[in-house]
Amino acid sequence: MQSRLRATFKVFGWMIFFLLLSAPAFFLAKANNTTGFVIRNARIFDGHKVIDQGDVWVESGRIKEVGRGLKVPAEIKAIDGAGDTLLPGMIDSHTHAWGDALKEAEIFGVTTELDMFTDVKYAQQIKKEQAEDRDLDLADLRSAGTLATAPGGHGTEYGIPIPTLSSPGEAQAWVDARIAEGSDFIKIVVDDASAYGGHRPTLNIGTVKALIEAAHKRGKLTVIHIGKQEDAHKVIEAGADGLAHLFADSPPDADFAGLIKAHHAFVVPTLSVLESVSGEPSGESLVSDPHLAPYLTTADIAGLKRSFPKFPTALSEKYAERTVAQLNAAHVPILAGTDAPNPGTAHGVSLHRELELLVRSGLTPAEALSAATSTPAAAFHLDDRGVIAPGKRADLLLVKGDPTRDILATRDIVSVWKLGVEDDRASYRATIEKAKEESTKAAQSAPAGVEAGLISDFEDGTPGSKFGVGWMISTDTIAGGKSTGEMKVVDGGANGGKHALELTGTIDGGLPYAWAGVMWAPGNQPFMPVNLSSKKSISFYTKGDGGTYRVLVFTESGGRIPAQVTFMSGPEWKKISLPFTSFNGTDGHDVGGILFVGGPAAGKFDFQVDDIRLE
Ligand SMILES: [Zn+2]
Repeated sequence: MQSRLRATFKVFGWMIFFLLLSAPAFFLAKANNTTGFVIRNARIFDGHKVIDQGDVWVESGRIKEVGRGLKVPAEIKAIDGAGDTLLPGMIDSHTHAWGDALKEAEIFGVTTELDMFTDVKYAQQIKKEQAEDRDLDLADLRSAGTLATAPGGHGTEYGIPIPTLSSPGEAQAWVDARIAEGSDFIKIVVDDASAYGGHRPTLNIGTVKALIEAAHKRGKLTVIHIGKQEDAHKVIEAGADGLAHLFADSPPDADFAGLIKAHHAFVVPTLSVLESVSGEPSGESLVSDPHLAPYLTTADIAGLKRSFPKFPTALSEKYAERTVAQLNAAHVPILAGTDAPNPGTAHGVSLHRELELLVRSGLTPAEALSAATSTPAAAFHLDDRGVIAPGKRADLLLVKGDPTRDILATRDIVSVWKLGVEDDRASYRATIEKAKEESTKAAQSAPAGVEAGLISDFEDGTPGSKFGVGWMISTDTIAGGKSTGEMKVVDGGANGGKHALELTGTIDGGLPYAWAGVMWAPGNQPFMPVNLSSKKSISFYTKGDGGTYRVLVFTESGGRIPAQVTFMSGPEWKKISLPFTSFNGTDGHDVGGILFVGGPAAGKFDFQVDDIRLE
């Protein structure tokens, strides 16, 4: 969504920041799928229809046979599926994958993600591992790689330099370069941000048409991001294969579904993200679901509870639900997709919400399940999956109860298999629980020194601190930026003190979230949450070149995005006191880091801080 203008670039940018600092855990399972098994007496939703009771025999990562009372060799392990429903592993048709995305997806029964824009190097690495039969505990990835957008258009704001284009003549070379990089399909952005009350350059329709033709010439599908209904009409008429989103700016025109139908296109509504765009945190109900919560990381929980800031225009997810109803009545292929990990969504888990929203829009539960299995498999020509039938991949999801009647039953997961290998959900759950316990413990124990309140007065001539990890340089170079920063203990502190800490450097405008400055952490290591809630505010003295600077506060519950407050640094020492609550309402119970930084505006910065305290 162009919608995300600001909010998303922050998510994306800070996520890179966070991931680089926290060394994401990749689980690289190797194939061990030579032994077969049979699931007996389960209700089977085969991607299209329900078989009331049947058996599914899996051998060497593939489905060997489907039927009743299957005769299998005695040594084959049998799993009793009575009372359960077996489904094809689910496909999320709109995500942005990086970090632990694919691991989280598979935990929740999503065995394939169709990524609509990520770092090309990440996609290449994952696909190499997939080809080697590794990554069996990660959802299978298909990716657009880099998206097609105009210079300065949506997609360029994330800090990753991407090749743009602006005329039809560049289309074939652009598409061929993506295919050479490994793009499985071509994602195109047509969004001038007006649906959200903004302005942004976007591709003209001639260039879009040329891109679609160039992709088709090479046998690739095109999926289009649009922000408003008017653009949806235009891109479908230009020959697009599918819409990567529905619009939330208006109810559907009477002929909308007819137009899509006439052009044999498909639609990925992404109601989940549209809900968050309309100001409702889409994932809130997922967080309180006892079947799902134990598998959610603290960061995902924070993300699921978030929505986009209110836009000045009247956007409503309800418009999109009406459009889905119209499309479904016209038998337009509808594909379940979430746009995770945008605010209000997380990988894997949000597809369960998407199914619920599709049913709310008028799909039967079985139709919604097809939207997450056979329909995307057919639309994206993934002929080896999305259905339970002999010869198909043994990507499977076993759940308790009957989601073909009650869609919420998809959340009560018994087992997930990728290529016949069962995902070790129990270990994952234990890891998540342990991490949560540790952070709770850390957050409960305030370190010695908090009571006295003084963090640093620099009187000993060093950038150290009375407790926690002393001040260290932090710049956006870890996220691909070019900003530079230096710190130096200088003579002449506030209140007649001997010393202060001077921060100087240059913010490079290359990143929209550019920063450079210093970071301090209250615990033994950066980002370890510590309970500072016995204090109410952060105070410090500052003087400087007259520029506006920022205090950033990372909290565990705030996830990967720091809360920030700006301050002015003038020629005379001035005391600044910032209540914890001014940082997105935190009470300070789980602070992982505090930063003083310049940026994001480009240019030189020079300011001093002194007598930094908790009060
Ligand atoms: Zn997206």
